[in-house]
Amino acid sequence: MAKTLRHLVVVLGDQLNLDASALAGFDPTQDAIWMAEVMEESTHVTSSKQRSTLFLSAMRHFAETITSHNWPLHYIRLDDANNAGTLADELDKAIQTLHPQQLVMTAPGEWRVLQSLRGMAKKHHLPLEVRDDTHFFSTVREFAEHAKGRKQLRQEFFYRELRQKTGILMDGKKPIGDQWNFDEENRGSFGKAGPGILPPPTRYEPDAITLDVMQLVNDKMAKHPGNLHTFGWPVTRAQALEALDSFIQHRLPSFGLYQDAMWEGEVWLYHSHIASALNLKLLNPREVVSAAEKAYQDGHVPLPAAEGFIRQILGWREYVRGIYWTQMPEYLERNQMQAHAPLPAFYWTGNTDMACLRDAITQTLNHGYAHHIQRLMVTGLYALLLGVDPKEVHAWYLGVYVDAVEWVELPNTLGMSQFADGGVMASKPYVASGKYIDRMSNHCKGCRFNPALSTGEHACPFTTLYWDYLNRHVDTLAKNPRMLMQLKNLNRLSDEARAQIAIQANLIKNSA
Ligand SMILES: Cc1cc2nc3c(=O)[nH]c(=O)nc-3n(C[C@H](O)[C@H](O)[C@H](O)COP(=O)(O)OP(=O)(O)OC[C@H]3O[C@@H](n4cnc5c(N)ncnc54)[C@H](O)[C@@H]3O)c2cc1C
Ligand code: SF4
Repeated sequence: MAKTLRHLVVVLGDQLNLDASALAGFDPTQDAIWMAEVMEESTHVTSSKQRSTLFLSAMRHFAETITSHNWPLHYIRLDDANNAGTLADELDKAIQTLHPQQLVMTAPGEWRVLQSLRGMAKKHHLPLEVRDDTHFFSTVREFAEHAKGRKQLRQEFFYRELRQKTGILMDGKKPIGDQWNFDEENRGSFGKAGPGILPPPTRYEPDAITLDVMQLVNDKMAKHPGNLHTFGWPVTRAQALEALDSFIQHRLPSFGLYQDAMWEGEVWLYHSHIASALNLKLLNPREVVSAAEKAYQDGHVPLPAAEGFIRQILGWREYVRGIYWTQMPEYLERNQMQAHAPLPAFYWTGNTDMACLRDAITQTLNHGYAHHIQRLMVTGLYALLLGVDPKEVHAWYLGVYVDAVEWVELPNTLGMSQFADGGVMASKPYVASGKYIDRMSNHCKGCRFNPALSTGEHACPFTTLYWDYLNRHVDTLAKNPRMLMQLKNLNRLSDEARAQIAIQANLIKNSA
């Protein structure tokens, strides 16, 4: 009689670690692991070549780690004959062949995937145990508890709770430096001289596995956005640890100060580039935060740099995850500002005269990467001001970035950048004119538009659309005390000026 399979452990493409909760208690004599590469994960939103390559290569490397432990693994490759194309259909086949008594998995990063796998377990009347993802500092239940009864959710308060709970950067009950937050010191620009000589990013030559995947992606996803000329992301835990170490040594000291700065042609600056490794779970956020805290304790980096970095992970990363899981599935449908315009075609090519957008989009297509301010205050801001449908904006962000997984991408896009959730995620829309981009970068120097002008041939489209946005939404925005200053400035414009801006804004919208 065939041996019975106790647990079939489902491991998804963003759960690539041996200490995953799903693998706790794994017994190779009676359990097996199941992983599947399927086309749906690269097409439900069109995934860029960089993003698909990263996920597939990291999965194949993790599969090697599993087999090196002699753990039984059922692995379906994208190019296997009869690949069913979806996770649910592949799991259906596996259940019929392997007859497990139970399915076990770590909570996935996407509501859609959880529903489809639950549906498949139900179809077969099989118990599915979904375990907490221990690669976070908090659980979704803790976030729900924090959110209970609050009129407004704010990252800062959840962050402080987690600082107290974990003791990170704490001196007893007080924050080290007597300040929770050094945000004011995290907004430097490079000045006229520019960033100078920057530490090189940690990049990896594709090995045989990655080269195979690149060929597969170029073949099966030829029409997907971006290219693979520069692929160099960490695809193993060892590489991710090395990339973290190099960031802590060379870039963290200046991270805080230049976190928001941009410079034409400079892709990597002082950022960590570890979001993809964190989100695929090649790195644990605890080891990342402790490395930054230790760098501060050793006197290697100033407190504002360490705090500024730790806040992104212990604060923002945990907060957005809580928002996602407590607000889905309705969250995806939100469109508070009634934005219905299509995403401009140049988001897929970078082919535009606007220097800031051209730079951000080109590097996104070349590397699957742009830093936070490029995402929020260049590509995100333009879509917001133009009134693009938040679902289209969401599909773009989820498709193009190597670190994109829906739990983190959706609240950042729909909430923080498009204000489509009406203020759940952020207390006000992040709106600014071209002057903000001019202050934080050198893009405007080489642009045919002028950030100070809102009308006329050389008017910066950001500036025109900024005033038009305030004007269009004045009634809604007036209810928000944090918008008062901006609306006061709007009131200084004459009726004639507003009418001219509306005409020019319409021209931009019609040509988008
Ligand atoms: C519209 C929009 C979409 C975004 N989509 C994603 C996404 O799909 N995946 C993703 O990981 N981040 C996303 N972010 C957040 C942030 O932009 C990226 O985490 C960051 O740019 C990744 O680059 P890095 O690793 O060099 O980060 P660094 O600038 O070095 O920051 C350090 C780490 O902090 C974390 N972090 C920083 N900001 C945030 C944030 N707002 N939310 C959650 N974590 C944060 C990340 O893990 C990041 O690696 C998005 C932001 C915006 C405005
Ligand atoms: S002038 Fe306007 S469009 Fe041109 S780079 Fe500056 S902000 Fe961007």
